[in-house]
Amino acid sequence: MTTPVELHHVIDGELVDSIDGRRFDSVNPTTQEVWATAPRGATADADRAVTAARRAFDDGPWPRMSPDERSAALHRLADLIVEHGDELARLDTVDMGKPFTQARAKDIPRSAQNFRFFADYARLAENESYPVATSHHMYTRYEPVGVTAAISPWNFPLMLATWKVAPALAFGNTVILKPAEQTPASCARLGELGIEAGLPPGVFNVLHGFGPGEAGEGLTTHAGVDLVTFTGESNTGRAIQKAVAPTLKRVSFEMGGKGANVVFADADLDKAVDWSIQAIFTNAGQVCLAGSRLYVQRPVYDEFLARFVERAESMRLGDPLDPATEIGPLASEEHWRKVTSYLDIAESEGAKILCGGQADGWWVKPTVLVNVDQEMRVCREEIFGPVVTVIPFDTEEEAVRLANDTPYGLNAMLFTENVRRAHRVAAALQAGTVWVNCFFIRDLRSPFGGFKQSGIGREGGKYSREFFTEPKAIIIEI
Ligand code: NAD
Repeated sequence: MTTPVELHHVIDGELVDSIDGRRFDSVNPTTQEVWATAPRGATADADRAVTAARRAFDDGPWPRMSPDERSAALHRLADLIVEHGDELARLDTVDMGKPFTQARAKDIPRSAQNFRFFADYARLAENESYPVATSHHMYTRYEPVGVTAAISPWNFPLMLATWKVAPALAFGNTVILKPAEQTPASCARLGELGIEAGLPPGVFNVLHGFGPGEAGEGLTTHAGVDLVTFTGESNTGRAIQKAVAPTLKRVSFEMGGKGANVVFADADLDKAVDWSIQAIFTNAGQVCLAGSRLYVQRPVYDEFLARFVERAESMRLGDPLDPATEIGPLASEEHWRKVTSYLDIAESEGAKILCGGQADGWWVKPTVLVNVDQEMRVCREEIFGPVVTVIPFDTEEEAVRLANDTPYGLNAMLFTENVRRAHRVAAALQAGTVWVNCFFIRDLRSPFGGFKQSGIGREGGKYSREFFTEPKAIIIEI
């Protein structure tokens, strides 16, 4: 076993350890060995990071720079992400088992693009002005809010962290990023690249550690933090909402999902099978947007299922660093235990495992569950693994009712060649994003977030500007 890599917090432009010197392990799920250790941030470390971010906001140059200057710094950071693309993709692969080819081709370019998009958006966005009668003129300014706590999950470690950090910085805030404890490495490196890109000290800090009672809660309860952008489980969102109440912080929550994927009999079945496979098995199903509930119209149910299962069974499990691997291990032992427990729950509830199941190590094969009832836990709870339920339906109304019968509302998909039906069903689905005959296509200007227990608020383009700024109306007598 090689000596674990030592990661650090990035606070006030410096690499530091926790005040009490404590560390925690990051385990490579492929080898099940500790490959890195990170400082375990306590509330005292959160306070130290907030003090730095507060000073940088209250007295430093960043919020007072022109959007052009901030934009240049963020483009430099994007350039560094591109330059270090192999290294960053490898860090996420080793930390959480994501296939390297997927991290390299998708997560890293998107992480750089998050910075480029918001750097440009903040620079180019237009402000309104209104003539008020003939005597007054009104215009809007979008002021930065202050110190942002960005709390991110482990499933797309770098990509989802940058989705929060980039807009927060672009609109002039200072940031403390708290990456998930399972995947600290790429965010630690991002903090270092922030220093190299010339971000002033305290503007972008990275604080490692756990949530309850430690680094995470230290941020959400801190009076010096103005806003919290969080991506993670809905239950964690509940805890954070309570924690921020006494200090009335602004929150943006992107939380769990149980995406419905509705395949109508008039769909292009080749396309529907292709996208449905990607929708549930990408990143071993550890995707908030996963299409984990498939509803297939009865006339094509047998044919669709046969083709879907054939594809699922042919997917290649293996070492995520091997370019041929499509399914890596699940991110951690704890998560692997959770996902496999749902296979037992499925059988005890009377569902049938048509294909898949547990594999050696922390891998789970692409798993298809049938004989599923809408009320079963496997159909209602977010499994967050490569496990899909398949239920037949007869009518469009029934499909919409089944798809909407969930506490979640992050996204949904539907496949049909009938354009009227496409619009009708897309309008009826209670979800923040609806993909018709496709999956995962995004434009960063569009609203992203969830209905019901999948989220509070939206981010993306002008929605991010609303969240990360204080719009101010100025009325002047002419
Ligand atoms: P999680 O909620 O366990 O943890 C997310 C982050 O919150 C981590 O950094 C964790 O340390 C921190 N945290 C935990 N408890 C906290 C507390 N009390 N106070 C402050 N911080 C706390 O989620 P996870 O397991 O890392 O990620 C998987 C979940 O994220 C799934 O539910 C998935 O659907 C969701 N997710 C949602 C989106 C989206 O865009 N809607 C995207 C990706 C993942």
